[in-house]
Formats: sequence, structure tokens, C-alpha cells
Amino acid sequence: MKIQSIRGMNDLLPEQSATWQYLEKTVANVLARYSYSEIRFPVLEQTELFKRSVGEATDIVEKEMYTFADRNGDMLSLRPEGTAGCVRACNENGLLHNQIQRLWYTGPMFRHERPQKGRLRQFHQVGVEAFGLDGPDIDAELLMLTARLWKTLKIDHAVTLQINSLGSADDRANYRLALVDYLSARHDQLDEDSQRRLHTNPMRILDSKNANTQALLNDAPSLEDYINSDAKAHFQQLRDKLDAVGIDYQINPRLVRGLDYYSKTVFEWVTTHLGAQGTVCAGGRYDGLVEQLGGKACPAVGFAMGVERLVLLLDELGVVPDSVGQTVDVYLVAVGDVDSHTLVLAEKLRTACPTIRLQTNCGGGSFKSQMKKADKSGAALALILGDDEAANKTVGVKLLRQDKAQETVGQEQLADYLTTLITTD
Ligand code: ATP
Ligand code: MG
Repeated sequence: MKIQSIRGMNDLLPEQSATWQYLEKTVANVLARYSYSEIRFPVLEQTELFKRSVGEATDIVEKEMYTFADRNGDMLSLRPEGTAGCVRACNENGLLHNQIQRLWYTGPMFRHERPQKGRLRQFHQVGVEAFGLDGPDIDAELLMLTARLWKTLKIDHAVTLQINSLGSADDRANYRLALVDYLSARHDQLDEDSQRRLHTNPMRILDSKNANTQALLNDAPSLEDYINSDAKAHFQQLRDKLDAVGIDYQINPRLVRGLDYYSKTVFEWVTTHLGAQGTVCAGGRYDGLVEQLGGKACPAVGFAMGVERLVLLLDELGVVPDSVGQTVDVYLVAVGDVDSHTLVLAEKLRTACPTIRLQTNCGGGSFKSQMKKADKSGAALALILGDDEAANKTVGVKLLRQDKAQETVGQEQLADYLTTLITTD
């Protein structure tokens, strides 16, 4: 029997990796323009890290983590998200001591969920975290940065921003009591998931997908009424800043996020184009987490975007530039007794034209079959080297995407000729 991949853990084939690279390049470029630096940390951490940050009663820790004892008996988990590891790494390396950090990372995350469109067991996130700033200006910066990314990717028309404020940990605790009171009295009307959450993570009931539960929540106590004045002011200032820079948003009073560490601002960028898995980017402020993980108190805010969902959206909207996925600009056809001449010419061209992607025909074949391969490669033009061309130090140039007669160009002029003909990005 053939060994198969693990369910929900996909291979990324060359055809798709081009779109991934395009997305990753665009993200890295936008982040650089906002002066964010990349941080890398392991995919494996002590299980305790996630219990203490994401929260014991969250879906992620309760039932989605890949957890195992290693050969020493230490309990380890594959990271289900990046913020915990990022904060751990920053604390451990003294990055947060009286310092401001603007950081990003990308890589695989692991959650044992039911695989479906836009939901995998190994998925990828780009995460962005800003440390040492407690004002709404940095919250706004993160949202400006994401808005610019959507614009650059040409998906801005397909995503909308939802924001909410969760207040402080105390506010949330007070609200939680009121919510549990209200819902406990209506226990039988709740869906099964929400009944379970009532005792573990009641705030999560607010974003239940169940219509009855949602209807029941219409008369429930409102989180807004429990939020302290400092958090209220923070939220209002964030809104003013978003208005000033022209970023549209909806206030969603039921947006709570599934992780324990958030406070004050939370947000999600959502799309209607991907079915149920419509959140492409989500985050918020987590002012208490650094201290909770053993560091000196340090305000922080961040978000993560789901790479698979963004790739799906790019494909769905057909906004990936045509040039993405193209790997060959020039195809070198060689017929006759010109083997080493071909290789020397190809290497010379690669040195002289570093941006041009040149594929040499390997494995021989007739002129006709090589031209077929040249065409299939997607190259803009074929260079043709035969015995005569080799003797005369020329090449034949055939444009493959235009109806134009073949030309002969001197090998000395070839680099200049190609550079003016082919513009790559
Ligand atoms: P969801 O509502 O989809 O369960 P979440 O609240 O669990 O998302 P976060 O932990 O905030 O998600 O992760 C940030 C982003 O990572 C999500 O908005 C989504 O784009 C992506 N993401 C989360 N879980 C998965 C998954 N299992 N497969 C693919 N992408 C995911
Ligand atoms: Mg989830």
C-alpha cells in the first residue's frame, strides 16, 4: 500500500506555489514599507506555552492541538498559532525591555480541525505583532497596513473590516458573569455547542453560527455596557483615525475572537466569497499577554492572516497577474553538433542578463520537437543554435507569441537585444 499524506495537510504543487510566492512577496514588500522586521521561531513549543496564552478553555487548546510527549517525556505541541511563540521568543531574547518592536513572521500552523475548503490541519499564516505601544495609533497602523495590502493585491473590493472592543480583563470578567446569568436561565434554548461553552468559554457563544442562539442573544446584556472609559476612549480614537485615513469598517458588537488573550481592540477582515470560512485576517490587542508569559508588562497588538484563504480568494477573483507562474522567458533550441557551444552561450547570457529566465533544451530531439517544447514552456522567444549559427557566431531568434519572421542576431549583440526585448519584474 502506498503511504499517503496526513489528512488536512496538503502538498503545494509548482502550479500553486507561484501564487503563494506572489502573495508572500507582496506581503513582505508592504511590511517592509511600514518598517516591520521578520522574526522566526520554532514550530514546536512546550504545550504549557499555549495553555497559558491561548487559554485552557479555548477550542484550540481543548481539542485542536497536536500534542505529544517527546523522547524525554516533555509535553510538546505543534504551534496552533504564532503569537504565543513570538512573545516567548521576544521575552527570552530581551526584545521587549523598554523597546518598541514591529515584527512579522510566516509559516505553518497546526490544528486538528475538520478539513474543508479554507480549513486545514496544516495551514499557513502571516502574523504581524507590534510591541511596546498602547495607543490606538498603532492599532490604526496595522489596519492601514492590511488595507494597503488588499489594495495592492486587488482584493480590497471583496473584504470588509469588522471591529469591536473587548475592554479590560476585568470588564470581560464582569460581562461574562452577566452573560452566563442571562444564558443559564435560557439553557434549554441554546444549541449544543453553546451549552458546552456556557461553562468553559461563554463569550464565544456570541459568535455562534446557530440562528436560534443568535436570536436569543438579541436581548442579552451587551458587552459595550461593561467596557471601562479608558477602553471606550481608545476605541473612539481608533475609529476617528480610521475615518481620517478613509478605511471603512463595521462595528460588530458580537466579535469576540476565539482566544483568551485579547483586550480592547479586536478586528476581522471578512469576505463573502469563500463560504463559511470567510475570515481572511484576524487580530487585536493583547496588553496582558507578555506579562502573563513571564515578561515585564508590555502592551501589544497584532493579527494573523490565513495564507490558504487569501490564495483561494485571489484565485476566485482572478486577480493574480498573468506573469505569475511563468518561469521561462527564453528557450534555447540546439540542433546539430553544438552541445558545448550551447552551454557556453547559455551561461554567458545568464551572466549578462541576470533578470532573464533562460531554459536550455536538454535531452536532444529534432528541431520540430524542440520548438514544440519551447512553445509549451511559455517562453516569449526561442533562440536557435545550429551548426551554421555556431560557425558564424550568430543565433536565430524566433518570437513565439508574435507573428514575425525569424531573425538572425550576432552572439555579441544578443545580450543587449534580449534586454531590450524582455522586461521582467
Ligand atoms: P476561524 O473562525 O476560521 O476558525 P480562528 O478564529 O480560529 O478562525 P485565528 O486563530 O484568529 O482563526 O487565525 C487567524 C486566521 O488564520 C484566520 O482568520 C484564518 O484566515 C486562518 N485560519 C485559522 N484556522 C485555520 C485553518 N484550520 N485552516 C486554514 N486557515 C485557518
Ligand atoms: Mg478556528
